[in-house]
Amino acid sequence: MQFADRFKGRVAVITGGASGIGFAVAERILGEGGAAAIWDVDAKAGSDAAAKLGRNALAVAVDVSDETSVNQAVAQTVKAFGHIDVLVTSAAITGPNATTWDYPPEKWRQVIDINVNGVYYCCRAIVPYMQAQKYGRIVNIASIAGKEGNPNAPAYSTSKAAVIGLTKSLGKELAKTRITANCVTPAAVKTPIFDQMTQAHIDFMLSKIPMGRFGLVDEVASLVTWLASEECSFSTGAVFDVSGGRATY
Ligand code: NAD
Repeated sequence: MQFADRFKGRVAVITGGASGIGFAVAERILGEGGAAAIWDVDAKAGSDAAAKLGRNALAVAVDVSDETSVNQAVAQTVKAFGHIDVLVTSAAITGPNATTWDYPPEKWRQVIDINVNGVYYCCRAIVPYMQAQKYGRIVNIASIAGKEGNPNAPAYSTSKAAVIGLTKSLGKELAKTRITANCVTPAAVKTPIFDQMTQAHIDFMLSKIPMGRFGLVDEVASLVTWLASEECSFSTGAVFDVSGGRATY
C-alpha cells in the first residue's frame, strides 16, 4: 500500500539503496512523492537503481566506511536537492560465517568499519543539516542478530548491537528537536545479502522464525517508511521489531 504524497518535498538519503531493503525503501519514498539519493559502494548498481527509480532519484557512489567519501556524498546530495530530511542507513555486509575464535581479524574490522563506523559517519555528517532545518528522520537498519547474537556471525551480531546502542544515544541527544532516530531489527529477509552467508546459516535463521518464512523487503520498507515519515513524531531512540515473531523483547 502507498500513501499519496507522504514524502512530498522530502529528500531521503538511503545508504545501500541499490539493493534489497534499501531499494524497497527508496521505491516507496519516491512512489509517495519524495526524492532519494541512492548511496552505494557499487556504482553501477547504484546508477541502474536510480535509472529504474526515475527522475527524482540520484545515484551517489560512496563507501560509507570512508569518512571522506561520506562527506563528499553529503555535499553532492545537498548540491543536487538542497536539503536532506531523511537518512536510512541500510548499507551493510554480513562477513563470513565462522565462530568467534576462527573469525579472521581483517574481516572483523571490515564488518565493523562498514556496519558501525559507516552508520556513525553518515549520522555525524547529516545531523547538522537536520538541526539547521529543525527537522529530520533517521532510521538505522539493525538486525535481530544484534539483540540475540547469532552463532557463527559474531562480527555481524556485534555490529548490529552497536547500531542499536548508537541509535539509542542519538535519539536521546536529539529528543528536544524535531529530529527522531530509530532503528529496526529484521529477521532474515531474502535479498542478495544471502549470497554472503552459508546455507547452514540461512537454514538456522529460518528455523528461528515462528511464522516459518522469510520476511519480505516490502514488509521491512513499510515499517521503515513510517519511521521516516512526519507521522512518527513521539518515538525516538527506539528499536522496532519486524521478525515474524522471533523477537522476545
Ligand atoms: P543487500 O546486500 O541486498 O544490500 C546492501 C547494499 O549495501 C548493497 O547494494 C551494497 O552494495 C551496499 N553496500 C555494502 N557495503 C557498502 C559500503 N561500504 N558503502 C556503501 N554501500 C555499501 O542487503 P539487504 O538484505 O538489503 O540488507 C540491508 C540492511 O538490512 C543491512 O543493514 C542488513 O544488515 C540489514 N538486515 C538484512 C536482513 C536480511 O536478511 N536481508 C536481516 C536483518 C537486517
